[in-house]
Amino acid sequence: MQTYARFDLEFVRGSGSWLHTKDGERYLDFGSGIAVASLGHAHPRLVDAITQQAGELWHTSNLYRIPNQERLARRLVDATFASSVFFANSGAEAIECALKMARRYQYTRGHPERYRTITFSGAFHGRTLTAIAAGGADKHLEGFGPPADGFDQVPLHDSNALRDAIGPETAAILLEPVQGEGGIAPVSHTFLEMIRRAADEFGLLVIYDEVQCGMGRTGRLFAHEWSGITPDIMAVAKALGGGFPIGACLATGEAGEALVPGSHGSTFGGNPLATAVGNAVLDVMLEEGFFESVRERADRLRRGVEEIIARHPAVLDHVRGLGFMLGIRCHVPAVDVVAAMNRRHVLTVPAGDNMVRFLPPLVVTDEDVDVALEALDGTAGELAS
Ligand SMILES: *Cc1c(COP(=O)(O)O)cnc(C)c1O
Repeated sequence: MQTYARFDLEFVRGSGSWLHTKDGERYLDFGSGIAVASLGHAHPRLVDAITQQAGELWHTSNLYRIPNQERLARRLVDATFASSVFFANSGAEAIECALKMARRYQYTRGHPERYRTITFSGAFHGRTLTAIAAGGADKHLEGFGPPADGFDQVPLHDSNALRDAIGPETAAILLEPVQGEGGIAPVSHTFLEMIRRAADEFGLLVIYDEVQCGMGRTGRLFAHEWSGITPDIMAVAKALGGGFPIGACLATGEAGEALVPGSHGSTFGGNPLATAVGNAVLDVMLEEGFFESVRERADRLRRGVEEIIARHPAVLDHVRGLGFMLGIRCHVPAVDVVAAMNRRHVLTVPAGDNMVRFLPPLVVTDEDVDVALEALDGTAGELAS
């Protein structure tokens, strides 16, 4: 179906940060399939893990114990605020689990009337009927009937609006610590703190959507580690499988206990194949020095971008974001910048607020960073004239 206005590019092979067409042309991938292929393409450790698992066992069912799943859950718990994990197949499903859990949590505490979730302008939480209602973007809701009930949206960084929106039916507050699709907007630490305080005061749950900003993207395993302010529930997906579809919903003990046998489920979620890959992703990311190296190379990219913006103020406005999750605000249409970068064989991704996103694989080399910077410089020069 014509759900995407696709670029006329076709890739048949990938290696590290590079994608190859069947004609043998190569493109530097600074989109990572929208923050998914964070260890690059055909990473040998991921190839080994999926190949070995493919010869052993793909799928059983969540009716039985799945050792790979238990191991991945244990490792995610050990690395975070969480004490339990539910596995799904996508970001939207991880969000769905988070929202259902928040409502069940309130229900089990004697508050069935608390089912509403507060969300923020610029949010994106996926494309199911519930997720588009949570995101609240008109262009995603148009033509799909009345938005699913249960969401109240307030402007990001508006503490008064947030407090005013909290009512007797509020169950939770949902946000991306760094907004992705909305235009690479990091949420201030003071606002995160304010949300946490308000939630604690009114008995609400805080849900972080780290589907895009999590799994190392910002230079730490999860973006909220930069603030030290933890949620009660967190949705993860995209880079968790390095390109294999997997999502996860992490929760504190109290929140996670709201879901019991029969109250939620998934046929595929966390199957042996998906969780073999998830474990391999963690094997690489949790190695000593991995994130330090990400932060160093990301700083280099950011400095380079800042220099280029300073040289082309008529085309590029400013850069924002964290680590390898950078957005460049443009004065010309961002899609024109993306298209011009494509012509220079560097793939980037547009985002809201007229931003171009740089989401390179976390394993990108200094040399490849320079290739992308040169393409940006050339593009900005081209579009200035
Ligand atoms: C991509 C994304 C989603 C949806 O993930 P899917 O796997 O496409 O369902 C949800 N939240 C955020 C922040 C995302 O970037």
